Amino acid sequence: MAGDFNAEQKRYLEGFASGIAAARLTGGLALGGGAAAAPSEPTGPDAIHIKAQDKTVKDGGKLCDQEKWKRAENPFDGHNRLIREAAAGTQPKPEDNFRWRYHGLFWLAPNKTHYMCRMRIPNGILQHWQFAGVADLADAHGGPYTHVTTRANLQVREITPEHGQAFLDGLTDLGLTARGAGADNIRNVTGSPTAGIDAQELIDTRPLAKSWHNWILNDRSLYGLPRKFNVAFDGGGVMPVLEETNDIGFQAVEVVEGAGVEPGVWMRLVLGGISGHRDLARDTGIVLKPEDCNLVADAIIRVFIENGDRTNRAKARMKYVLDAWGFDKYLAAVEEKLGRKLDRVAPEHVAPRKPTDRFSHVGVHRQAQDGLNWVGVVLPVGKMTTDQMRELARISSECGDGQIRLTVWQNFIFSGVPDAKVAEVESRVAALGLTTKAAGIRSGLVACTGSNGCKFAAADTKGDAILIADHVERTVSDLDVPVNVHLTGCHHSCAQHYIGDIGLIGAKVPVGEDGDMVAGYDIVVGGGFAENPKIGTEIWKAVKAEDCPGRVEALLKTYIALRTSKDESFQ
Ligand code: SF4
Repeated sequence: MAGDFNAEQKRYLEGFASGIAAARLTGGLALGGGAAAAPSEPTGPDAIHIKAQDKTVKDGGKLCDQEKWKRAENPFDGHNRLIREAAAGTQPKPEDNFRWRYHGLFWLAPNKTHYMCRMRIPNGILQHWQFAGVADLADAHGGPYTHVTTRANLQVREITPEHGQAFLDGLTDLGLTARGAGADNIRNVTGSPTAGIDAQELIDTRPLAKSWHNWILNDRSLYGLPRKFNVAFDGGGVMPVLEETNDIGFQAVEVVEGAGVEPGVWMRLVLGGISGHRDLARDTGIVLKPEDCNLVADAIIRVFIENGDRTNRAKARMKYVLDAWGFDKYLAAVEEKLGRKLDRVAPEHVAPRKPTDRFSHVGVHRQAQDGLNWVGVVLPVGKMTTDQMRELARISSECGDGQIRLTVWQNFIFSGVPDAKVAEVESRVAALGLTTKAAGIRSGLVACTGSNGCKFAAADTKGDAILIADHVERTVSDLDVPVNVHLTGCHHSCAQHYIGDIGLIGAKVPVGEDGDMVAGYDIVVGGGFAENPKIGTEIWKAVKAEDCPGRVEALLKTYIALRTSKDESFQ
């Protein structure tokens, strides 16, 4: 049968993991022998991806493993097989671990005995009963705790293989989903955590985030990108959402008279943020009506799907297409897809963003609504036990508006708390061993999953973050301003170490002369975000993890000694 294929078809067949790829090439025919049908044009929602893979191979590229896996069996088509195999106790092969991630389950290093489930929570907002329901699901199927992620999302760990689907079914019962939460998909949609309650905001991001969330969920062609993809909506309020670290950021801005478009609130389009690759999103000069965000994001992503690198995972993010093409060419391709030009305004016709409050995610803050407050609770490296979660849900229901709003700072806020209930919230939170106080280091501590659950990690980021916080609280008693310390386990930079006041990225540190290595970090300082976006500068390489608390102490003491006032930021 091999002789029936031309040279181009043979290249495909050599590259693919299973005969299903061959079936696609032959229109699903002829695997059993006989003359192959002529290759047919792919159709349906997967066609855009198949054509991009075809083009890659035609141009002489070798598809990376993940592309071969997607092509051999679309993870959605493989769902029922995955369930059957998990129920039978079969450990997923690497390609099935990848496919499970389309359904939100991750078979995790280092032990690889359990799944972790990452959800999708648009704008990070949960009802109290959903929050308590996730705690119950974790108890029934996984470990008795959850983590808040840096995309204002929840993760539950220690889910045994046979419980994976039951956990996902439980999410559906709660009106939640994990679909597309991992692998090469558009990740949880973030929006301003104080949307709708912030006197400073220009626009309420909740409907925008929810609408984009539903747009993605209901279009299979928007899954299976060349690489993961992040989209964020910033409403212009006091709490930053770090949209500059996203592939697409929509920023609410005020356009003033004389810009050539109607004055008022528009969404400015920024593109190409990926802080782990030392790049923050850049302004395109384009402004959109809020109702056009989905259509434009869709077109941007389709240009990426068609032109992203499918051969090299390290270069597969949209940033690399932007770097290769330049913004003008990329945006021209987007406009061609849309069939119209997008509006542009010069920076001088956009009012400056109102300042953010770097610690508005912690403590008590007045809402736009008279007599109401939001109250931010510190979660050490994002962790809560399920017992804590159930009581937090009760507090939200009895003292607030019933919502729990997760933030990208790995914590959450209660919203709609009347003045008369603030003290009760604070004392009930304290009774759980948590705090609402925005003191020192702990409220700005961000850490990725680290070596306890991620195969890429060079260090135990969460454990080391706690050690650093404990040490600093003992040794830097005069730390009177909040400081952001971000620990990330590898170059993927899930904890965005480059935008922290102090950032640590996991590194193996050589010790002795016989090639032994221990966990440690490279250390950067002076990163920033929102109105002060900046990629931090590396100052130390390969510091042993055990020495990092002392280095952070030294940095903080130097800052306190050299600053001219408390208002001078670490940056
Ligand atoms: Fe894993 Fe690296 Fe992300 Fe940390 S930054 S969770 S080590 S991929």
